[in-house]
Amino acid sequence: MSKLLIVGSIAFDAIETPFGKTDKILGGAAPYIALSASNFNVSSAIVSVVGEDFPLDYLAMLEKKNIDISAVEIVKGGKTFFWSGRYHNDLNSRDTLDTQLNVLADFNPVVPEGYKDATIVMLGNLHPIVQLGVIEQLTSPPKLIVLDTMNFWMDNALDDLLKVISKVDVITINDEEARQLSGEYSLVKAARAIEKMGPKYVVIKKGEHGALLFHEEQIFFAPALPLEEVFDPTGAGDTFAGGFSGYLTKTNDISFENMKKAIIHASNLASFCVEKFGTERMENLKRDEVQRRLQQFRELTQFEIELS
Ligand code: AMP
Repeated sequence: MSKLLIVGSIAFDAIETPFGKTDKILGGAAPYIALSASNFNVSSAIVSVVGEDFPLDYLAMLEKKNIDISAVEIVKGGKTFFWSGRYHNDLNSRDTLDTQLNVLADFNPVVPEGYKDATIVMLGNLHPIVQLGVIEQLTSPPKLIVLDTMNFWMDNALDDLLKVISKVDVITINDEEARQLSGEYSLVKAARAIEKMGPKYVVIKKGEHGALLFHEEQIFFAPALPLEEVFDPTGAGDTFAGGFSGYLTKTNDISFENMKKAIIHASNLASFCVEKFGTERMENLKRDEVQRRLQQFRELTQFEIELS
């Protein structure tokens, strides 16, 4: 059976949107990725770290979703990673107000024995040295390594980030970050430049404007579902990454054609994440809701046209 290994931050998030404010709720790349991938019933495990201040209920919730949390280290006396952000009125852009790495600062990841031969490895957002450390522990080459990162690591650990980028097959990144990483304004040129850094596939996420998949001369575009209300976009990118890697793990097919489907599933799942604060919507998502919205996606994108 195929297996998905997930690496990423586990956080306390404090979020401000035009609709309200939260204080220290569950966040981080790994929970969003894992909750999203759990919709495909794949075997998955998280490698991450939290402090002693982290509520065990959160870990129990992940475990209940069949996510292996045995490689989530709990540091005695340590403080969990903390992130705080404020969204602008358009909800497509945000300011980071605070990033406290805490236990994430000197985390040494340990990949569980049963996942050293994972089919797909999803390197979610955290220090690129940790992402590299995970790759080094794999005993057989995975079918696909997917990397997600953000501007914080471009600003603070660019050399390490470039090292990890050179070792992965797919990178998922947002439009602003793609521009920062490549120095190119055009997203087509940015994707080409990033492909030269290592990844054969580049996924550029554009928030409410959808996502683009680039591979050599091929480009595929998936829209984001137009939603009446977006409440909190936090974790949408990670949910997207979890949907993408979860679907590819489930189908065990990494062809470009199947990646297109993965992008649609990823966009579909991300559309739920933004409807409530934090992970709440993803924790309670039902299979029939997902299926119904997939149907909407199909209707949104299907058309016939005569070419003369
Ligand atoms: P997204 O909205 O998908 O970009 O992801 C938001 C999540 O990323 C939040 O839950 C944060 O806890 C987490 N996050 C923010 N900054 C970092 C960082 N520098 N490293 C790892 N995770 C982060």
